[in-house]
Parts: sequence; C-alpha cells; structure tokens
Amino acid sequence: MKLVLKTNSANLTAGIAKDIGSRLKGGEIIVLSSDLGGGKTTFTQGLALGLGITEIVTSPTFAVSDVYKGLKLELHHYDFYRLGSEIGIMKQELEEVMDNKDTVCVIEWADFVKGSLPESRTINVTLDRQKEGEDVRLITIENPDNLQYAIDAELLEDIKC
Ligand code: ADP
Ligand code: MG
Repeated sequence: MKLVLKTNSANLTAGIAKDIGSRLKGGEIIVLSSDLGGGKTTFTQGLALGLGITEIVTSPTFAVSDVYKGLKLELHHYDFYRLGSEIGIMKQELEEVMDNKDTVCVIEWADFVKGSLPESRTINVTLDRQKEGEDVRLITIENPDNLQYAIDAELLEDIKC
C-alpha cells in the first residue's frame, strides 16, 4: 500500500512515526529516504518514542549505527551517509540484525543495501521538501500488505494527500 501525507512541522512528522513505532512487532526494516535535513532522523526519533525508548536518538553520523532498547523491541539505527571501508562489515552486521525478531532496523541512506533487503519486511518512507514552506514535507509510506498493521490509515486521514 502507498500512502502520501503532508506534514507542516517536525513534531507532526515525529508524531506520525511514533504511531508507527508503537505498532511494530519486530523484524521490520524501515528505509528512510530524503535529502540532507529532509527529516529522516526526526522520523526515527518519533519511531523510537513509539517503541518506548526514552534515550535521545541522535544522528549516528560518526558511529554508522546505534542501538536503543525499547520496551519490547530493540531499535538499530543505521546511517550509511559516510560509510566507507566498513561497507562489508556493515552489510554483514545488518544481515544478522535484521533477521532478529526482537529488532526494528531503521536505515538512512540505504542505497547500497536496498537490493538485499527482504521486501516483505520493509517499509519505505520518503520525505520530500515542498516549495510552499520550509517546514513542509510530503511523506510517502510504501509497505507490503502483510505490514499494514503498522499504519493506522484512519488516524492519518486528515493529513492524507
Ligand atoms: P535528516 O536525518 O534527513 O538529515 P533531520 O531529521 O536530521 O534530517 O533534520 C530535519 C530538520 O528539519 C530538523 O531540524 C527538523 O526540525 C526540521 N523540520 C522542519 N519541518 C519538518 C518536518 N515537517 N518534518 C521533519 N523535519 C522537519
Ligand atoms: Mg539523519
């Protein structure tokens, strides 16, 4: 299913993500795409809240990956923007982690692993800036039918495009 939403604040983007986070069962992979500053980490922060994570989620720009413990699930947050020679190690780590049922993986700048992600467990989220305002984003959420439980379309009805 494909859903296009319009948000006009970082808070609203985080709120959308929080609701999704609260619905996850584990084993899902969320691929976030946008330009720099598009809102991928903001979305991840909301998702973390939904998973019951109280720690502050930051951009793992220097660490490549960070792990946070939620109430039931662990969040593995990857940012491959600056990935260099660690590419092989990271691919291997990701493959092991994403098969863990108690884990949710969020990946920013996922281009180099995109082809190897299992489609049936992957939710693709794209954030696009809009000319109409600095804080406006179109968020496109694409998920396979079997992951529909993660999206409350009714809740999002008012901001649907
Ligand atoms: P990325 O991880 O994609 O580089 P960040 O989430 O780190 O982006 O940064 C997005 C910036 O844009 C933050 O400063 C955030 O507050 C701001 N922002 C403004 N409006 C929005 C919005 N509607 N959704 C998400 N972020 C927004
Ligand atoms: Mg980021």
